[in-house]
Amino acid sequence: MNKVETLTTVEFVYQALEQAASYLKRYGREETPARILLQHELGVDYSGLVAAMRDKIEDRQFASYWANIEELIEGVPVQHLTGVEQFYGRTFQVSPAVLIPRPETEELIEETLKLKRELFGAEEVQAADIGTGSGVIGITLKCELPEAEVMATDISEEALFMAERNAEILNVDVHFTKGDMAAPLAGRKWDIILSNPPYIAHHEASGLADTVREFEPHEALFADRNGLAAYETLAGQVPGLISRPGIIGLEIGSSQGAAVTELFQKALPDARVYCKKDINKHDRMVFCILE
Ligand code: GLN
Repeated sequence: MNKVETLTTVEFVYQALEQAASYLKRYGREETPARILLQHELGVDYSGLVAAMRDKIEDRQFASYWANIEELIEGVPVQHLTGVEQFYGRTFQVSPAVLIPRPETEELIEETLKLKRELFGAEEVQAADIGTGSGVIGITLKCELPEAEVMATDISEEALFMAERNAEILNVDVHFTKGDMAAPLAGRKWDIILSNPPYIAHHEASGLADTVREFEPHEALFADRNGLAAYETLAGQVPGLISRPGIIGLEIGSSQGAAVTELFQKALPDARVYCKKDINKHDRMVFCILE
């Protein structure tokens, strides 16, 4: 199928969707983005799209839709085409400068909120998100815990710009600071420290989907020392920064549960350190509880 042929045969919305889905399938791409992009093009949500299926699609709209479908074929993530991703029920702006938020990270938030209630009740807490990227962790925490004071850091100025924009759109007050790892946290104690640092080993790059490897920022994905470098740095830094009671929550790669648990148990001998699986039963988080 080529563009010209498609342009002349598509009259209705449902035909655009069918053509795009089968085109993506033929090239081994996921089909769901065809629907997401069509909603984006028409400016409707899922039910709006269903209602519009038998409407005519304008040539101009179809041409613009199809240009985006061609980008998907090339491996561009759908979130880079729509400019957004959903996280914990909210819409976040994304760009190639930040990691696209993942559903696994929502589970880090979920567990943190549960622990916060257990350890602190409704008390005001000081929380930090190290390597905030698009800002999802810090901003979501502030949205869910308006009584918290939240600082979010990143070494990338472009990422901080995006995170600041997201905080503004979601109308929350998060204090963004540029700096490497926990450096911006120095000089005071924190009740909650969260991070989803880069954790993919360089040798794992070839196993990643091209949509990730070729389009997402490498500084957000990859870490030295078999993917453990960021955890090693944090294990050195956070013992001096965490309050008692306190919570440290880290997202990890599915093969890193034992290594990261051991690293933090050694760094914080009196903490309760445990690894938690995600919904797909993969090791995904390590939490340290200080009482
Ligand atoms: N904190 C951001 C997220 O969880 C970015 C993480 C990263 O870039 N490694 O999506």
